[in-house]
Amino acid sequence: MIDEVTDERTREGESAAGPAVPQEGEAGPHAGAGHGEPDKSAKKTEDAPAPSRAEVSNYEIVEHWFGVAAERLELPDDVAAVFRSSYREVQVQVPVKLGDGKVHVFSGYRVQHNGARGPYKGGIRFHPEVDLDEVRALAELMTWKTAIVNLPYGGAKGGVNVDPSKLESHEVQAVARSFMDKIEKVLGPTRDIPAPDVGTNAQVMAWLMDEYGKLHGHTPACVTGKPIALEGSQGREAATGRGVVHVFQEAAKGIDLDPADSRFVVQGFGNVGSWTARLMQALGATMVGVSDASGAIATEDGIDAEELAEHVREGGTVGAFNGGAGEIDSDDLVAVECDVFIPAALGGMIHKDNADRMNCRMIVEGANSPTTPSADSILNDKGVTIMPDVLANAGGVVVSYFEWVQNLQHFRWNEDQVNERLAEIMRRAFHEVADRAKQNDTPMRPAAYELGIERVVEAASTRGYI
Ligand code: NAD
Repeated sequence: MIDEVTDERTREGESAAGPAVPQEGEAGPHAGAGHGEPDKSAKKTEDAPAPSRAEVSNYEIVEHWFGVAAERLELPDDVAAVFRSSYREVQVQVPVKLGDGKVHVFSGYRVQHNGARGPYKGGIRFHPEVDLDEVRALAELMTWKTAIVNLPYGGAKGGVNVDPSKLESHEVQAVARSFMDKIEKVLGPTRDIPAPDVGTNAQVMAWLMDEYGKLHGHTPACVTGKPIALEGSQGREAATGRGVVHVFQEAAKGIDLDPADSRFVVQGFGNVGSWTARLMQALGATMVGVSDASGAIATEDGIDAEELAEHVREGGTVGAFNGGAGEIDSDDLVAVECDVFIPAALGGMIHKDNADRMNCRMIVEGANSPTTPSADSILNDKGVTIMPDVLANAGGVVVSYFEWVQNLQHFRWNEDQVNERLAEIMRRAFHEVADRAKQNDTPMRPAAYELGIERVVEAASTRGYI
């Protein structure tokens, strides 16, 4: 199965049929401009060269792991077929007049994978590479993730193929509002509740909530990840990173690693990466390498995560950070020697051509689908412990759940209450997955998928949906 998935694919930039598809960094005629037909060409998203990514799509990665777990669970083919496709897939046009005075048409998506356990839940991504295949994969991942941490939600995801870094704030606002206008019919606090993801943040959630409110009346529970001033939850911004760190702390015990003594590398210094780094540093750990889309830096002496976060908040990039670390090739970040490597950027960045170079004892997946199945297999053979995305980065959706609960009750929790409850849920989920992995003698990822799938299948069949 692993070979089938990867062998059919070639590395980015090496189409088996020749270079017919525009390659990353080789923007097509409409690259990111959003004129007319939805632009499906590969696009250059930032000015500096980005590290290589696998050609295995996010969808193939999620399908691979679903297939492995379904086989072990002996899920009948007809039942598995229900989960191999989505309940609902909405694709809309998002026309927006930009600063050049022209109307640009972006493509927007909302995919609801499965709602057996409750309302659909999942982020909204603004990124030029967003397409239906990716959104589908991320929606399915949310179904298993919410089940693994035992939240009363189904799985969904959405996105718009726009590059927010190239737009003015009022243009991003126009994209958000236009997108909400097109998809509001399938959303709502008891139907589907979006949250932030790559390229979106609390401000974007505020615009989405406001737009939804124009049509339905003030409804704070219609999105999560909102600013505190608009009934967002204390602790939501740091929640995914905090969850990553809880999982790391539990997993470290299993490999006799003292968190205070550990050295870590973070790939992607956005919401998830920067919070993970700051919270790891607060435990006493040392960041020895870090990257963003602009470049990578590394030093054995350590990079101050708080100072780097401040530098990025002020508009700086990781590559330009003057904190005593030397710039390295982004592709070499994976080879930096450390105890823990934390991918917190995009999918498929640890693949069969760089997995063998990794020089860590543990990977804690802050990003969604960062590791391809082939890379996972190589790393397992090398003895690297992997904490899978569906468990490790669930902290965000856990606190999104808390935000939704608070909004429905019009009652506020303080940050300590949020953080304590988050810790309890993450630790419980870790141990449920770890017990299963031990019992079945498998790594954590198959155990996590099995747990999630079992819970969703039970809910779907008890409802009479399957
Ligand atoms: P973000 O947009 O805040 O940050 C993304 C970071 O990745 C940025 O620093 C960007 O420069 C960097 N990046 C982009 N391309 C890169 C490349 N080629 N090499 C190195 N760095 C690169 O996004 P985020 O919300 O932090 O999400 C990061 C990952 O975590 C995504 O996979 C997302 O799906 C996942 N995730 C996010 C949340 C959440 O609550 N935000 C929850 C669960 C999972």
